Amino acid sequence: MRSYTLIAPAKINLYLEILGDRPDGYHELAMVMQNISLADRIDLRSLSVDKIQLHCQHPQVPKDATNLAYRAAELMVQQFPNAFSQYGGVEITIDKQIPIAAGLAGGSTNAAAVLVGIDLLWNLGLTQIELQELGAKLGSDVPFCLAGGTAIATGRGEQISPLPDLDNLYVVLGKHRKLAISTAWAYSTYRQQFGSTYVSDSTTLSSRAARVHSGPLVNAIAHQDGVKIGQLLHNDLEKVVLPAYPQVLELREAFQTSGALGTMMSGSGPTVFALAASNQQAQQIQERVKATISHPDLEIWIAKFCPTAIQVTER
Ligand code: ATP
Repeated sequence: MRSYTLIAPAKINLYLEILGDRPDGYHELAMVMQNISLADRIDLRSLSVDKIQLHCQHPQVPKDATNLAYRAAELMVQQFPNAFSQYGGVEITIDKQIPIAAGLAGGSTNAAAVLVGIDLLWNLGLTQIELQELGAKLGSDVPFCLAGGTAIATGRGEQISPLPDLDNLYVVLGKHRKLAISTAWAYSTYRQQFGSTYVSDSTTLSSRAARVHSGPLVNAIAHQDGVKIGQLLHNDLEKVVLPAYPQVLELREAFQTSGALGTMMSGSGPTVFALAASNQQAQQIQERVKATISHPDLEIWIAKFCPTAIQVTER
């Protein structure tokens, strides 16, 4: 039986702008996404029976068909029934390191890893574009998780334009262990409060999305300018999450005064991150934030920017 181990990295949003509503009910977004070295490990193994099995020790990760990794396997079965009958089922084992419902795309990166792994297990030879099209059926962040590195994501997040690699920066991530924020809540609250500012005509929407491509953050990324990148971090969802979650606001303020290059909430939170130019600076930020907030539930990680998407080894 063939088996693969896949390393599935988390993402942070360096930039997240909500432009308007879409006819499909999602939001029109302009984002800059970045993979980081904090990652889950996914083991995939062919089974002799026609079943999908999923194992994960983490108590908050669903083990049933609602798990995004499981849904990715189901999608492959549905799309490639002949390969499924030829190669049999798949056993998925998730070693969860990425915090759950944290704005770090944990589920999406697991789904991306399963698509990549089954493509290999079943010798399908799918192209990157084909994988990304399948990924978009599972979730808006899955195409980025397949592309990886640093990229602009527009549309509902599924249209990916790669940017030059950024691998010289460190990131300190903080999150209260028991705090989870629903992505759906964050976006619907944003719509209630800021819907009147939404752009609705398609020409203005395209030009606003295009502005990110030629904007100062992309320029700073092209020049590997960590100081500028830190100053240009942006996330519209902070406007609704910070007032509603005082713990996230407190963490954001602690990072703000920690000597970082810049700080921002990732995605819909509650993870807050700070950028650092070196591991040493990252450690200092970590110590300062821990000294400011002594809450026993506060978890802090240090990770590196990472230029690679899903990494695979055959076992
Ligand atoms: P995003 O940044 O894409 O909005 P997130 O990092 O905020 O995602 P996830 O960690 O993907 O959020 O978890 C969101 C919900 O998805 C969880 O509450 C969990 O029940 C469910 N879920 C389904 N599959 C997975 C998975 N493989 N790993 C983690 N959570 C999963």
